[in-house]
Order: sequence, then structure tokens, then C-alpha cells
Amino acid sequence: MAIAVELQAPDIEPYRRSGSGTEFVHVLDSGKPGPQVMVMALTHGNEICGAIALDRFLGMGARPACGRLVLAFANVAAFGRFDPANPYASRFIDEDFNRVWTREVLDGPRESVELRRARALRPFVEASDFLLDIHSMLEPSPPVMICGPLEKGIRFAFDVGVPRDIVSDTGHSNGTRMRDYGGFGDPSSAKNALLVECGQHWERNSERVAWQTLWRFLRTTGAADPESAQREIEPALGPQRLIRVTEAVIANSPAFRFARTFTGLEIVPHRGDVIAWDGDQPVRAPYDNCVLVMPVPNNVKTGLTAVRLGREETR
Ligand SMILES: [Zn+2]
Repeated sequence: MAIAVELQAPDIEPYRRSGSGTEFVHVLDSGKPGPQVMVMALTHGNEICGAIALDRFLGMGARPACGRLVLAFANVAAFGRFDPANPYASRFIDEDFNRVWTREVLDGPRESVELRRARALRPFVEASDFLLDIHSMLEPSPPVMICGPLEKGIRFAFDVGVPRDIVSDTGHSNGTRMRDYGGFGDPSSAKNALLVECGQHWERNSERVAWQTLWRFLRTTGAADPESAQREIEPALGPQRLIRVTEAVIANSPAFRFARTFTGLEIVPHRGDVIAWDGDQPVRAPYDNCVLVMPVPNNVKTGLTAVRLGREETR
């Protein structure tokens, strides 16, 4: 299905020169003590809502109230190939930028466009106390905050206050995300990170979700100037809910298909209900009120995750 590209990719060329020593990385220093807070856009080159938010923020001339604020456009090489006529093509060049975040991989001998960029951004990521990584999704789906497996991430997501749905998960088997890197994934560290999925890549609303999440994140970390935050932040749409991922459903055959159309975050009411068919084998809900997290509806590759399942927790 072709999805309309409602957003316009911003011209980020003016941000190439930065004064930080690294292209497309801007460090705003308040001159006052405080945490280093980092916001990352374009971790995937075709997820443009984050770039729009950073472009708008930098264009306002906004400054952090304390500490240092690092604003980075990550996979600029892939973004440089973004073409509204073929918007699926520019997620990455050689490999997924968001699966290389371990010391072993970053220090290792392997080379790729994304590894080079990750190595350039690594000192900024390592020096940051708080990180927000702004993403969007291929399929139309409600926005969701991915907070990782730790209690500190869950608390952080509730403190930020949007989006409504929070998913606690352990990441992906095929590589480590920036959100889980180093101190962010260490329960004994005070560092904390969030990954927001703002909705479908190119839908108008994802731009608004990115902007609201950015401002609330900056307010929560103390980086936002209170007057600007007051002006920019809209009321939240309602109370948040936490979904804790319990397992991934892997497609074991090319004939994997869902039992009906799921767009994500639907609740399958009863244990045993059929969620999907893998060849002629039913895939059943393992417990009551099973939540479907980011299903991949079309042509999921054999051996890859078709959907993750989670339990809703109230708190
Ligand atoms: Zn992404």
C-alpha cells in the first residue's frame, strides 16, 4: 500500500557546520551547571519528523535553561538520499544505525557508513546524561514511547507524560539500540534514555508528536526554558498506560499471516485466541488481554519478528 508523504523533509544543510567538531551535531551550552541532554533525529534516514522538530527548535534560537543540550542529525547519509517518490529506500545505507550500539561493535574492525557515523556520535552519546531518540514507523500506528526493560526507563516515560502508550521491552536480537547503550542500559547508572515512535513516518501528526515529546522531554530533564515550555506544550490527551513486552512472535514460514488486520496496540481478549497463522499452524494469544506491539503486517521475512506481545500494567 502506498502511503502519502504529507511531511516535507527539511533542508538540514545549514546544520552541517556546527562548531562541535562533528558535522550536524549542535551543542548549546547554557553556561550553567546541569546535565548534558541529547536529542537525536534521523537515526533512520527516512524518519523525518524528528529532523523537522530539530530544525524548528534550532530555527527558534532556543537555548537550554541549564547544562548542555546536544542536537544531532544521525544518519545524514541515508537522509541525503530521501526521495518523496521512493520514501522507503532511505532508512539506511549499509546497515541499521540503531543496531550497532555495543562497545564490541563500535571498537571492532567492521566498517560501514552507519558505523562510521555511530563512531563520530559516540563521544556525545557517552557524555550525555539523558537521551531522546526520535523515530517513526512504517505502518500507520498510534505513537508509542519505547522505554527499555528497566524501571528507571519506565519512570522516565511516565515523567515525560506523552505519548499515551509506553512499551517496556528488551530490544532486538539482531543488535543493540542506542537507547540501551552503556549507562542507559545499566540499572545502577543515573543515565536514562527514551525512544519515541511518533506514528507513521510521513503523516502530519507525527510532526506534532515529535514536537510535543521533545518539549516535554526537555522540561523533564530541566533543559527547557520554562517560559518556552509553557508556550509550546499542549495538554496530554489522557493518562498513560504501560505495556510490558513478554515475547516476540517469529515468522517461521513464508506463509505467515495475521488472522485479521492489526495496526498495533490492539488487545486480544482471550488466551488461546488466534492472532496469526504461520503456514497451517495457529499462533495463539498466550494470556488474556494480550497487546500486539508493532506488528509487521506485510511480507514479514522468515526468521524475523512478526509482532511482539505484551501485558498491560496499570500503575
Ligand atoms: Zn526508526
